[in-house]
Amino acid sequence: MKITDVTVQTFRYTSSEGRDAEGHGHPADPHDATQTIMTVTADNGAQGHVFGANPQHVAALVKPHLVGEDPFYREKIWHQLYTYQRGNTGVLTDHLLGLVDMALWDLAGQHFKTPIHKLLGATRDKVPAYGSTMCGDELPNGLSTPEEYGRFAEWLVKRGYKAIKLHTWMPPIKWAPDARMDVRACAAVREAVGPDIELMIDCYHHYSRSEAYYIGKELEKLDYKWIEEPMDEYSVSSYVWLAEQLEIPVIGPEYHAGKMQSRAEWIVRGACDITRGGVTDNGGISPLMKIVHLAEAFNMAMEVHGGGPGNLHVLCAMSIPGQYYERGLLHPFIDWEKPKPWLKTIDDPMDEDGFVHISQKPGLGQDIDFDYIKANLVK
Ligand code: MG
Repeated sequence: MKITDVTVQTFRYTSSEGRDAEGHGHPADPHDATQTIMTVTADNGAQGHVFGANPQHVAALVKPHLVGEDPFYREKIWHQLYTYQRGNTGVLTDHLLGLVDMALWDLAGQHFKTPIHKLLGATRDKVPAYGSTMCGDELPNGLSTPEEYGRFAEWLVKRGYKAIKLHTWMPPIKWAPDARMDVRACAAVREAVGPDIELMIDCYHHYSRSEAYYIGKELEKLDYKWIEEPMDEYSVSSYVWLAEQLEIPVIGPEYHAGKMQSRAEWIVRGACDITRGGVTDNGGISPLMKIVHLAEAFNMAMEVHGGGPGNLHVLCAMSIPGQYYERGLLHPFIDWEKPKPWLKTIDDPMDEDGFVHISQKPGLGQDIDFDYIKANLVK
């Protein structure tokens, strides 16, 4: 089997989310937006699809490495792209590497008529989810006060979530960051949901050591499950220091580049109590499974960063402790149960007990609305 083509098509849709000056998502008035679908095609007609790749970067950097290769030689292709990243890091990102790897896994799943988690070696078909909130905002009845976080958390528990993670206020909110306000939001949520719901925080990522220490100590009193990225992750020494000071588990890294190698360094140096990785942070399903096995070898819990079908398939092939699915980002104004315009059904349906059930369709298992995409193509 040989790859014959790699294409990226751009299509229009109406979005109700916007990004602030620092890149955080928030609810927004409906506006025109575009999305892309990358398709890898093999000579027997098998295809793999994934959303969100940059058309120019795929044409210039990815396609020449893929056409003519056997699509099942994922490791060979991945390592070619990985070594080619040196000198092209600004455009051949780990994110793009991740999309290519997922498209190849999707193609394999389509060919063998099998969902990816079963190709990997499955452990389960459903995963407990945590409701992961958007960052705080200044929208009345949104996430603008500790009390609003508390009210939203109550609603999330009624919906079925057994765990919740707060993203608190970050710039460009004019008064943020504020470590004391973060703790107040965490206290309001604990009071709203009671002692039996697991709670986590992901706060401003550039606090000082003393601010991170203060938040960690306060969250120990509130029985929080982990503290995530309260300082710049490139200072590994700061995380070694924080993990030594705190009882509450420190989770990471998320943003620190370096794929499985940086995770190995964090574990060996004692910079985290729970390790972390995600398909678009670390270059795809293939390297994320290496991080899973690295964690397993060190008896360390691991949590997967971000939602989506690629992460869900990895979660359903993990056999180490931890393993929540990050569902969201959620906000009182956004209906998460409604599919994106280019999907017929959502990727992460959740039952009333808070479990997300994985698709049993082949490959990534997405329910793609190809008619919608065709009707809205940007020519
Ligand atoms: Mg995070």
